[in-house]
Amino acid sequence: MSGSLLLRAAGTDGAALRDLRIEAGRIVAIAPRLEPLAGERVLEAHGGAVIRGLHDHHLHLLASARALESIPCGPPAVRDEAALQRALGAARPGAGGWIRGVGFHDSVVPGIDRHWLDRACPRHPLRIQHRSGMLWILNSAALVRLGLDTGADAPAGVERLPDGTPSGRCYGLDGWLAERLGTPLPDLRALGARLAAFGVTGVTDAGARNGPAEWECVAGAQASGALPQRVLMMGSEALDAFPVAGDRLARGPLKIYLRESEFGALDALVDRVCAAHAIGRDCAFHCVTRAELLFALAALEQAGARHGDRIEHAAVCDDEALAWIARLGVRVVSQPHFIAERGDRYLQEVDPADRPWLWRAASFLAAGVPFAAGSDAPYGALDPWAVMRAARERRTITGCCMGPGEALDAMQALALFGADAHAPGPGEPWPREGDRADLCILALPWQQLLRDPDSRHVCATLIEGRVVHQRAD
Ligand SMILES: [Zn+2]
Repeated sequence: MSGSLLLRAAGTDGAALRDLRIEAGRIVAIAPRLEPLAGERVLEAHGGAVIRGLHDHHLHLLASARALESIPCGPPAVRDEAALQRALGAARPGAGGWIRGVGFHDSVVPGIDRHWLDRACPRHPLRIQHRSGMLWILNSAALVRLGLDTGADAPAGVERLPDGTPSGRCYGLDGWLAERLGTPLPDLRALGARLAAFGVTGVTDAGARNGPAEWECVAGAQASGALPQRVLMMGSEALDAFPVAGDRLARGPLKIYLRESEFGALDALVDRVCAAHAIGRDCAFHCVTRAELLFALAALEQAGARHGDRIEHAAVCDDEALAWIARLGVRVVSQPHFIAERGDRYLQEVDPADRPWLWRAASFLAAGVPFAAGSDAPYGALDPWAVMRAARERRTITGCCMGPGEALDAMQALALFGADAHAPGPGEPWPREGDRADLCILALPWQQLLRDPDSRHVCATLIEGRVVHQRAD
């Protein structure tokens, strides 16, 4: 039949290879041997493992696309003051004449302000984002462009020097800046291609401010083919009425961005959760501190938890909080790779009493908590295979092992990227007849892949039976 695709010699968990026939975007047959039909396209897997496409359960699409167009200002690319000066000195302005930097961390140069940036980059408006996403640092040209140079009428969050002028450090002003800059929504094509090269066939966008504009941007990128991945979009109440059952783009949970420094009343949070639940919408809570986690769990306790409610990050989770999560039946979506990327800082900065509770993994699974992972790109690296490696090794860059008892085995690590976007939790890697043909084809047989899970082994990615990535060799 024309339009169908035969995937031959696909590796599975057993010794035997299988052929898969794909028609109209679905796997219609799996058997030891299928004969090619007239005119059928044949793709050889050569015995390489063929698994379900990976789903990144927590990232930020628009910010990741912008990051690809931005200057890295923090580790691992930039580690010290001289390296940051070089990077900014060599940068060329992009959209609107601005230079945009991302991933800055104080370990590069502590406490920099507009005057430091002016020395590194005097001519062009420059803004660099702290890797937490909570802080932008602007040079003087940028402050002039934004009408902030004197500090008159500056919004709260613009830090001031002793003489009253802005220091250039702007806290919690992401939305204000985006509005002032009139930043055009980014092109998602390069990001879509990168994700496809990692075998990622679906993502959950975890943006708390996502609303109709972000929805339209993603829908447009999918329609044009720029973004081949399926997307579950979390966001604010502005998405309440958007379709939850979309095949390519579906509305995800209400994202509740908790910050320990600005908790409101618990009752107000409970009301918000109840309102979401009342329209059948799950809630996802950003929790990076112990207090944020307890506040979220207290709200869920009062509101009653739903099947798809989830904790994002759960970066610090002691045994009592873990038992509470398990009792409520709430899911956890974690970033085990932050140990690899940030672990050495944690060892210096995190209260020793909290260290055993950092980025736990095996304990969640042992307690029966549905546990999955997301890259949190651009705040973490985009490569899901690096996340899996980190979940197994739990090693910092300098080689310290953090919480070895929380390490996952190879199967558990792969299952972090299970394909059910609405129900993050351990996923079966094997495609079945009737599945949508969202597949990741690897260059290694299964047993070898388990020993060396790495994105360099991804040789092709299919979404709905369409080849969206194929390695050149
Ligand atoms: Zn995030």
